Amino acid sequence: MLDRRAFLEKSALLSALGFLPRAVRAEEYELDVARTALGAGPFRGRPCVVSSANGIKGVKLAYDRITGGTDTLDAIIGGVNLVELDPNDQSVGLGGLPNEDGVVQLDASCMHGPTRRAGAVGCLEDIATPSLVAKAVMDYTTHVLLVGRGARKFALAMGFTPQNLLTEKSRQDWLRWKSRLNPNDNWLDHDDNVKINWTHGTINMNAVNAAGDVSSVTTTSGLAWKLDGRLGDSPIHGAGQYADNDIGAAGSTGLGEINIKACGGFLTVEFMRNGATPEEAALKTLERMVHVTEPRLLDDKGRPRYDIQVYAVTKDGRFGGATMYEGASFAVCDEKGARLEKCAFRYKNTERPR
Ligand code: ASP
Repeated sequence: MLDRRAFLEKSALLSALGFLPRAVRAEEYELDVARTALGAGPFRGRPCVVSSANGIKGVKLAYDRITGGTDTLDAIIGGVNLVELDPNDQSVGLGGLPNEDGVVQLDASCMHGPTRRAGAVGCLEDIATPSLVAKAVMDYTTHVLLVGRGARKFALAMGFTPQNLLTEKSRQDWLRWKSRLNPNDNWLDHDDNVKINWTHGTINMNAVNAAGDVSSVTTTSGLAWKLDGRLGDSPIHGAGQYADNDIGAAGSTGLGEINIKACGGFLTVEFMRNGATPEEAALKTLERMVHVTEPRLLDDKGRPRYDIQVYAVTKDGRFGGATMYEGASFAVCDEKGARLEKCAFRYKNTERPR
C-alpha cells in the first residue's frame, strides 16, 4: 500500500502527465449534482459532431445548430438531410441506387440519448428523408421500427410528400447493371469462387453537445442491386448506430451484413464504456467484425473481402474513426471547424485482397 504522501506525489505526477482526469471545478461539480438529481447525468461535454466523409457539409450545419442550442438529434438529422436530398449522392435518399428490381428502398434509424428513445424505418419507398420518418416513428408511436408498406403508409399519414426517388442517372446505372450477365450480384453462386464488388454508401452522424447529451443517426439506400426487402444494418439499433447518454454514440458504414452480426454500434459504445478511446473502440469493433466473418468473405490470409468503417464520439467530446482498409476519412466538426480526418485502419491498403 502507498502511504498518503507517496500516493499524493504519484497522483500529481500522473496528473501532470495527463493520466488522471483534471480536477473538477466547484461550479462544475455543483452542476453535476444538480443534473444528476434531475436524472440528466453529470456534465462533461464539449460539442462535437462526427460522421462518414460524405457528411462534411452536414457536420458543420449540425455543429452550428448544436452550439446555437438545437437538440443534438434534430441537429444531426438536419445534417444528414443535406445528403438525403442531394440527387448526386447515390448512396442515400433521393438518387440512391435501387434494388435489383429498380426500386429505391431506404433504411434509417436514430437514437436520442437524453430521453433514451429510438426510431427506425426499413425498405421505405418514395420518401426522400427516411431519417425524419425514423424520428417520427420515435416521436409519435409506441414502436421502434416500421418497414415496407407500413412505413410508407405511416410517413404519408405524418404528412411526408411521396416522390419518385429514382433519378435518371441511377436508373441508367441500374439498366447498365441489368443489361450485363453480372456474376457480382447479391445471390450466392455455388459453382464459382465469385469475386464480389459491392456498391454501397451511407451516412452515419453522431453528436454531443456542451451538456454531454448525445444522439446518433444513420440513413442509406443500402447496397445497390440488393434483393427486394433486404434490410441492412442502418435501420438496426445497435448495428448501424447506437447512442447511450452515459457514454457516447457510434455508427458504421460499409457491408451491413457483417455489422449486423457484430452489433457494431452497440459494441463500440461498450468498448468505450470499458475505457477505450473512440479510435481504440472503433478498431476493436473492426477486429470483432473480422472474427464474425464467414470464410467465403475472407481471403486465404483471413483478410476480409469487404470494407467497413466505424465512427464514434464520447460524452466528453472525444472522437475517432477507423476503417478496415487504409484510405478512408471521416468528417468532424468541433471548435476547430469542419474537416476530414484520416481513419485509423486495421489493414494496409497493400494488404487488400485482389
Ligand atoms: N451499411 C449499408 C448497408 O449495408 C451500406 C453502406 O454503408 O455502404 O445497407
